[in-house]
Amino acid sequence: MAGPVVTETSGKVVIRNVGLMLSGDIDAPVMDADTIVVDDGVIAAIGREKDCDTAGARRVIDCKGTALAPGLIDSHVHPVFGDWTPRQNQLGWIESCLHGGVTTMISAGEVHLPGRPKDVVGVKALAITAQRAFDGMRAAGVGGGAKVLAGAPVIEKGMVEQDFAEMAAAGVTLLGEIGLGSVKAGDEARTMVAWARKHGIQSTIHTGGPSIPGSGLIDEQVVLEADADVIGHVNGGHTSLSYKAVCTLCEKSGRALEIVHNGNERIAILTAKHAMELKCPHRVVLGTDAPAGSGVQPLGILRLVALISSLADIPAEIVFGFATGNTARMRRLRQGLLEVGRPADFVFLDKAQHSAGRDLLDSVRLGDIPGVGMVMIDGIVRCQRSRNTPPATEVPVIVQ
Ligand SMILES: [Zn+2]
Repeated sequence: MAGPVVTETSGKVVIRNVGLMLSGDIDAPVMDADTIVVDDGVIAAIGREKDCDTAGARRVIDCKGTALAPGLIDSHVHPVFGDWTPRQNQLGWIESCLHGGVTTMISAGEVHLPGRPKDVVGVKALAITAQRAFDGMRAAGVGGGAKVLAGAPVIEKGMVEQDFAEMAAAGVTLLGEIGLGSVKAGDEARTMVAWARKHGIQSTIHTGGPSIPGSGLIDEQVVLEADADVIGHVNGGHTSLSYKAVCTLCEKSGRALEIVHNGNERIAILTAKHAMELKCPHRVVLGTDAPAGSGVQPLGILRLVALISSLADIPAEIVFGFATGNTARMRRLRQGLLEVGRPADFVFLDKAQHSAGRDLLDSVRLGDIPGVGMVMIDGIVRCQRSRNTPPATEVPVIVQ
């Protein structure tokens, strides 16, 4: 599966004639800009073409009036090794998601590894190995170059603070879903979440009924007591807590509200609405929870954006922010927002051919998923017209 090692950097890239610039920031989702200049993978300027230094570019991309957004971030995936999942024995699932506009994925635990170790030494060893392997695989071009942030240990009974310190020192930055291992009680989880936080490791917790035989229920009392940074699949994965219980989580916790594709769709819509009513839309982040029993959905994040915008009645430009800037801030990532100095990870979008919508945002608001015309990571074009989305009406062109 390994491809050539990518050592090139993008050099100077000029992206011009952008018809709609989506910032990823839900407080100012649409930017007054038609041009981005990238320097070696990093955003160097955003603005009107006449105000940008566009001379001497190695590559020029004419967007043909289409939309540009930060690359989508999937807040909840379960990778194992490479671009393979044993859950549905599928190859190439990460690269397929790249064709759905996803440039970054965050592991909620490498739980599907056959024979996954559950002893403390094994848990730590797997976390460090996964972190290294997924970090290294990007340079090998596996998964289309998508950024997979992995090495997310599922905490087990018997772990002590020193274990979290050791993992953090070795480069582990995430915990896998709490509740998928032997730690299921709120007080026990709370202690380990605090140790993780102290050592700079972010935590997430399974919410709702068991996902597959062998996993268990985590109810709202446990979620509140554990106080993990991310309320993982607040709409269940698949089986949701009651809407009343989800409202309790929205109201009594200030942590991230993660809505997933492989969850209860009714509660997904109601949670998004409730977050808007409570004036805490910044807490909403989106994930797929793939691979799972429901499989892999390469367009899962785009489908969720269209579902929430159309049925929770939230402007599409805001919902794109749930899948980009909100996740960037909640997860402390550099990517996910269009700002000078941040990585040049972009998805180029247009309304799908023959959508009833007037334009991209209107088409999403009507429930259609958009067409992806190009995906760029660190300033390097990783795919052009998506093989998975409905065809975009117009696609960007590499003119130089
Ligand atoms: Zn889960």
